[in-house]
Amino acid sequence: MTQIYDRVTLIGLGHIASSMFHAIKRAGLAGEVVGYARSAETRQIAREIGLCDRVCDSAAEAAKDADLIVLCVPVGAMSSVAQEIAPSLKVGATVSDVGSVKRAVIDAVMPHLPEGVHFVPAHPLAGTEHSGPASGFAELYDNRWCIVVPDLCDDPAEVAKLAALWRGMGSNVDKMDADHHDLVLAVTSHTPHLIAYTMVGVAEDLGRVTDSEVIKYSATGFRDFTRIAASDPTMWRDVFLNNKDATLEILGRFTEELFVLQRAIRSGDGDYLHDYFTRTRAVRRSIIEAGQDTAAPNFGRTPAAKS
Ligand code: NAP
Repeated sequence: MTQIYDRVTLIGLGHIASSMFHAIKRAGLAGEVVGYARSAETRQIAREIGLCDRVCDSAAEAAKDADLIVLCVPVGAMSSVAQEIAPSLKVGATVSDVGSVKRAVIDAVMPHLPEGVHFVPAHPLAGTEHSGPASGFAELYDNRWCIVVPDLCDDPAEVAKLAALWRGMGSNVDKMDADHHDLVLAVTSHTPHLIAYTMVGVAEDLGRVTDSEVIKYSATGFRDFTRIAASDPTMWRDVFLNNKDATLEILGRFTEELFVLQRAIRSGDGDYLHDYFTRTRAVRRSIIEAGQDTAAPNFGRTPAAKS
């Protein structure tokens, strides 16, 4: 793979940034990768584990002379970080981000960027429930999608370079308008997370009544919800606060569907339930056919060892 940028700076050194670092290094996509994290503790861990070629003690120092600066912090922190790096951005540099919401990030970052700096927001549709500098791995983006928002940048060559970086890290790249992105993600990611948080919350309430039965007998359905509901609280708080309209729209539709299913159960309408579940099963099949999950039983997991 050929080098795409001389210097890439990652602001925020958590799950997404550390995976980017490993994927960039795997393919030799940048001459140097510079990093910065808010806490001294994360910067110390990054230095110890060799995350980034150089770790700086301020965001402004890290952004200086970089060709690409990627904001890898929670959505709610994008504005203050953009403000911090703005004075040290060189003319011709590109700023990007990895935020799970696009319109709110654009509104937060755009006003701080000086003339002559390009802005190409992006969102890799990949991640696990883990966070922090040690949680990243080079394969995270392999065969996943990265959505790039191209229309704020008047230089197509800079959009193409960022897309090439994501392709080099293993991703497939699609371009999308920010509002459309936020609606699509409300359906495929944000509302499902909220439902998982709710279900685990309900079970936790029930768990207080039934002692540890909820944990002891957690079968696949509930267990899979708990994995999603273990996702980082700061990140997900910011996602819901910043993708309010689309999430509420999808949640409204979800509630309506839930009432219809509730009624079918109450009235014993087995045909309705059977038809409904047949349709949803087909959705799962198309995800597997698109190569976005495994058809292996139990998501290809090996059973946990007995303690
Ligand atoms: P993470 O592992 O928790 O790392 C977050 C990083 O941001 C840490 O380095 C943290 O610094 C820093 N940070 C947190 N609050 C900050 C603040 N107020 N000001 C400055 N820096 C702050 O999170 P992540 O999973 O990498 O997520 C980063 C971004 O990627 C988010 O915008 C998220 O929406 C997006 N994203 C996440 C996923 C996913 O599944 N995880 C997938 C796609 C996109 P310290 O370590 O010093 O606290």
